[in-house]
Amino acid sequence: MKRAIAVLVVVGTTATGAARLKPSRYTEPKPAHDYPVTPVPFTAVHMTDVFWAPRIETNRAVSVPFAFQQCELSGRVDNFERAAKALGGQPLENRNAPPYPFDDSDLYKVIEGASYVLSVRPDPKLDAYVDGMIAKIAAAQEPDGYLYTTRTINPENPHRWAGKARWELERDDSHELYNLGHLYEAAVAHYQATGKRTLLDVAIRSANLLIDTFGPGKRSIWPGHQITEMGLAKLYRVTGNEKYLALAKFMLDERGPDSGGKTNPRGLTYNQAQQHVTEQTEAVGHAVRATYMYSGMADVAAMTGDQSYVKAVDAIWNDVVSKKLYITGGIGATGSGEAFGKPYELPNMTAYNETCAAVGNDFWNERLFLLHGDARYVDVMERTLYNGLISGVSLDGKSFFYPNPLESNGQHQRQPWFGVACCPGNITRFLASVPGYVYAQQGSTVFVNLYAANNATIDLGGGRTLKIAQDTRYPWDGHVKIVVTPSRPGPLTINLRIPGWARNEPVPSDLYRFLDTVSEPVAVKVNDKPLEATPTRGYVTLARTWRAGDTIDLSLPMPVRRVVANENVEADRGRVALQRGPIVYAAEWVDNPEGRVRNLVLPDSSPLKAEFRSDLLNGVEVITGRATALAFDANGRVEKTEQAFTAIPYSTWANRGRGQMIVWLPRTEAVARPAAYPTVATMSTVTTSGRKNPRPINDGEEPRNSADPTSYFDWWPRKGTTEWVEYAFKTPARVSEAEVYWFDDTGRGEVRVPQSWRILYKDGADWKPVDAAGAYGVDKDRFNRVTFEPVTTSGLRLEVTMQPQWSAGVQEWKVK
Ligand SMILES: [Zn+2]
Repeated sequence: MKRAIAVLVVVGTTATGAARLKPSRYTEPKPAHDYPVTPVPFTAVHMTDVFWAPRIETNRAVSVPFAFQQCELSGRVDNFERAAKALGGQPLENRNAPPYPFDDSDLYKVIEGASYVLSVRPDPKLDAYVDGMIAKIAAAQEPDGYLYTTRTINPENPHRWAGKARWELERDDSHELYNLGHLYEAAVAHYQATGKRTLLDVAIRSANLLIDTFGPGKRSIWPGHQITEMGLAKLYRVTGNEKYLALAKFMLDERGPDSGGKTNPRGLTYNQAQQHVTEQTEAVGHAVRATYMYSGMADVAAMTGDQSYVKAVDAIWNDVVSKKLYITGGIGATGSGEAFGKPYELPNMTAYNETCAAVGNDFWNERLFLLHGDARYVDVMERTLYNGLISGVSLDGKSFFYPNPLESNGQHQRQPWFGVACCPGNITRFLASVPGYVYAQQGSTVFVNLYAANNATIDLGGGRTLKIAQDTRYPWDGHVKIVVTPSRPGPLTINLRIPGWARNEPVPSDLYRFLDTVSEPVAVKVNDKPLEATPTRGYVTLARTWRAGDTIDLSLPMPVRRVVANENVEADRGRVALQRGPIVYAAEWVDNPEGRVRNLVLPDSSPLKAEFRSDLLNGVEVITGRATALAFDANGRVEKTEQAFTAIPYSTWANRGRGQMIVWLPRTEAVARPAAYPTVATMSTVTTSGRKNPRPINDGEEPRNSADPTSYFDWWPRKGTTEWVEYAFKTPARVSEAEVYWFDDTGRGEVRVPQSWRILYKDGADWKPVDAAGAYGVDKDRFNRVTFEPVTTSGLRLEVTMQPQWSAGVQEWKVK
């Protein structure tokens, strides 16, 4: 399921490696071209706000050390040491246990995050630790600059995805270039943070090998998993070496259906090679690869001025924001290929929305803002940032979501780490750099893009600086007070972003709209004097001579808003989502009666209000009101109960255990899902011989068919074995009938109806077969019913023998 990505390898500088390059103090050469708008670096922005500052501190104090520890415990650091030993001709005990081809990238990502941490706050211990990691990486680099532990450890027997020869399977799954992209990003971050060239020199040696190997008149290549392009653009920016930029563009230009070489067996759309990049108009395939590529295209567009790149990347963006973006800002609807779905295919419970794709979406939207200077890209970025991205990490900073669904029956939970661990490293590096998304500048124009309490110092050039202090409780309150202090009075333009949500536009497309309108206007005052606040391209422009102590008061009304989706989004039809300011809400089991939320109806007429709860989830604004709960009674009729309703910020769900969660609530009973009537089965404690959450087996939900992906259990990847499910009854019951609805994902996965099954009952400590009256059926798309001689027992066991070579699974098991 998670074949995606990971990050790579970091290299340290050995004496020989570093010495070849002219040592120099860090100065940033001006590339010939770059984005017209420049971000104010995160090192210049000190956050003091209620939302990000605590998360950034948790990331620094908990997540970064935790991620390093996981890299060590999982052998990712050891891989570099093994590779160095192999290079030195030393014997290796475990030469035939190659790491995943992308494992190197995870350490690189954490080093990037740690470098951002070091940029903001000196930490000699962390600095020394990172130096140690870099030395190990450098030692694993081959003499010509090649760096890829899975091959270096044992060139005769690398991981099978790596291929027998260098680069041979790059377009497929080797991830050689993917690792290097993360290496380059980490190296630039480390260099900028510390002024040390150790990792940068490793990156340069590696990039120079790429330049010697690939390009016009040399070998062709394109990365099977993009990010090398972004990494090379960063190397270009920091070194001024035009060859890195040319290689980034070459790797994009070479991409396409006619480029030869072994491509990914999942098809050319999987990694966006179905057309030449400048011909692409739709977002397709693996969502992380896609957003990294679109970000690299934006870099090339900005740095080369190539309009065909601008045109393509704009068209693809329009496709995403009008057809493929979740209300949480998540992207990548389907777990099958971790990919974008079809237009308007936005299922909620099975939404994939990989955390890395949210990070990639923000990289991309930030770049498009820097290219176009239009706030609509910041609108998308902010939506993702506050919702579907930050949901990827728990409040304590120690567990992570890979997929970020919009509905749950309790089957989802954050994990401390993953075998394929791209997401933890990605969110760790991203969080450390969040202050860099607040401001941007273009000449003497300063863009205020995000609102959060902070103090910033912006270098205006020519010896001028501008200090900005934001005082606000945003995102819980829409009032923002800004005090500006220019180093000397002078003309200056401040562009204040008026967020789309404050202009009755949840997204810059017709994919979502607010059901209501807000009459209270946005208000802007300068030195207490009200100004006309009509935005252009999303900004109110304040051009004047600013003096020290001048104030700007911005008031963004923040009522609770109801959002509805375009009718083409089948999954959201008849449903409503709640938003207040930039925050999207979710109802979670723990805050609502009976521990259920999937059976609720929230009528449009039901009033809602917001209140701050300092005791909840580290302090959040919650939405409260009344909703209607639906439940079947013993006769199959629907009972309605009006009850209290509470919703929390979506990003904070799943911090208090497993249970139901829902973002899109039914507006009417027609689309609601009444709770099942309690039965012997639904009240049982369910256990299985498998590892997955067994709760779907007795949750009382009627499947639509055997392939229904919303609430099932399976034993995959086990195949051909005999397994079991047990119901422990609350009290001994007399039962005589069982009905099983099989899970079967033919066409999608490897689960099929079983070869055979039977029911056993508990007799003392023993399990005995029931005396069945007929055959045990294995039909798809219906309940398979079997009756048996009544038994009074404390529990039943469903014993399942799979078909050879196939797995098996259960949608629902009823008992009477
Ligand atoms: Zn990921």
